[in-house]
Amino acid sequence: MSDRIEKLINSAAGKKLLGAMGVTVPTELLRYDTTQHSYFSGAVLVGAGDNAQLLSRVQSNFAESDAQVFYSPEAATQLGGNTDSNTAERYQALVFDGSGLLDATELVSAYRFFNANIRKLKSSGRIVILGRPHLLCATPEAAATQRSLEGLSRSLAKEVGSKGATAQLITVADGADANLDSSLRFILSPKSAYISGQVIKVRAASANTISDWHKPLAGKIALVTGASRGIGEAIADTLARDGATVVGVDVAPMETDLNKVMTRLNGKAVIADITSADAPAIITKALGELGGVDIIVHNAGVTRDKTIANMSEPHWQMTLDINLAAAQRITAELLKTNTINDGGSIIGVSSMNGIGGQRGQTNYAASKAGVIGYVDFMAQSKELADKNITVNAVAPGFIETAMTAAIPLFTRMFGRRLNSLSQGGLPVDVAETISFFGNPASRGVSGNTVRVCGQSWFGA
Ligand code: NAD
Repeated sequence: MSDRIEKLINSAAGKKLLGAMGVTVPTELLRYDTTQHSYFSGAVLVGAGDNAQLLSRVQSNFAESDAQVFYSPEAATQLGGNTDSNTAERYQALVFDGSGLLDATELVSAYRFFNANIRKLKSSGRIVILGRPHLLCATPEAAATQRSLEGLSRSLAKEVGSKGATAQLITVADGADANLDSSLRFILSPKSAYISGQVIKVRAASANTISDWHKPLAGKIALVTGASRGIGEAIADTLARDGATVVGVDVAPMETDLNKVMTRLNGKAVIADITSADAPAIITKALGELGGVDIIVHNAGVTRDKTIANMSEPHWQMTLDINLAAAQRITAELLKTNTINDGGSIIGVSSMNGIGGQRGQTNYAASKAGVIGYVDFMAQSKELADKNITVNAVAPGFIETAMTAAIPLFTRMFGRRLNSLSQGGLPVDVAETISFFGNPASRGVSGNTVRVCGQSWFGA
C-alpha cells in the first residue's frame, strides 16, 4: 500500500498535485556516469578576494577539464590581467578564492561576487569557496575572517539547495596548495551530488598525482566490512568500478549474498563476525595473501534502538562493539602486522545521529560519535603520517536503503526532506565519498568527517 502511495507521489501527476499544495518537489540531482568525459563540464566563473593565493591552482585544474572558464575582473587582474573575462549567461559552478582575506571588511569581495552571480547558477550547480584553516592564521582578525567563510558557504548552500545545487568550503593549509586538486575536482564533479554545506580540510602531503577520472583506484586492494547489502554493497560496487579489487567481509548468515556480490565484482569474500576474537587475524591473513591493503572501509554497523531506560546491556554493548571497538581492533592488527600499504586510507562510517544525537539511539550515537573521535585522534598519529596513511569518515544522513524503507511512510516522506536538497541520498553518494578518500591523490585529505546528508537541518 505504502509503495503505491509513494509511486503516485513520484509520478508527474503526483508532483503537480504536491506542487500545487506547496510541498517542495526536489530537483533530480546530476550523478556520475561512466560516459562523462571529464570531472567537470560547462561554464564556470572564478572570483577572488584580495591577495588570492590559489587562483593559478584553480586555473590549472580547469585546464584539465571540459570547462569553459570565465574570470571576475578581480580574479583576472590577479592572474596577470590577460585572462578573458567575458561572462556566460549561466554557470555550472561559481568558485571563489578567499584564501588571501585577512580582515572582516575584505569579505565584501565575496558578497559582491555572489550577489552579482548567484542567480546565474544552474540546477545541480556547484559553489566552491577556497580558504585557509583559521587556526593556522597569523592574526586573530585573519582567523575570524577565514572562519567567516564557513558561515558564508553553509548559508549559500541553503540558498541554492532547492535547485539541487550545493556549496562547500575547502580549506588548504600552508604548503598544501598542490594537494588541493582531488578535493576541488570531487566537489565540482557529479560524484559529490548529495554533499552540501561541508568543509573539506586539506593538509600538506606527498603523492598528489591525479589519476584517471574513471579508474582512480586501479591496482588498489580495498577491504569493505558489511559488504553484502545496503551501503556496504554500494561501496564495494563503487570501489570496484573505480578499479580496486574488493575484499568483502560479512557474517555467516549473509554468506550467499556476500558471495553473489563478490562474484559479480571479481572480489574475495571473507566470512567473519568482526566482533569475534579471531576476526582481526582472519582478515589480516586474507589481505596479506593479496599483498596488503590500500583502502580499509569499516562499514558494518547495526542499530538496537530503545530509550536508555529500556535498553538492555547486551544491546548497548553489541552496538558499541560492532560499530566502534571491532573496527579499532582490526585496524590495530593491520597496522601491527604492516598490512596497510604506504599511502593507504582508513575510512570509518559514522552517522548524522552520531553528530546530533537521536532519541532511542544512545548506543548507536555514542558508537558513531566514537568513529569521529577515532578519526580526529588518528589523523594526528605519527605512525600513520610516516606511512602517508590518511584517516577519514563519512557521516551519512537519510540514505535510501532497506533500513530507511522500513520507516513508516509519512515519517519517511517527511524525514527524507529535512535537508537543503529536500530528498534522501543514495548509497552510491556515500560510496563516492569513500572512493574520494581512497584516491591516491587525496593524501592531503585526512582527519575529515564529511557529512553525506544533503545539508541535514539537524545535527549542527
Ligand atoms: P545494513 O544493515 O543494510 O548493512 C550492514 C551490513 O553489516 C550487513 O550486511 C550486516 O550483515 C553487516 N554486519 C553487521 N554486523 C556485522 C558483524 N558483526 N560482522 C560483520 N558484518 C556485520 O545497513 P546499511 O544501512 O547499509 O548501513 C551501513 C553503514 O552505514 C552502517 O555502519 C550504518 O550505521 C551506517 N549508516 C546508515 C545510514 C542509512 O541511512 N542507511 C545512515 C547513517 C549511517
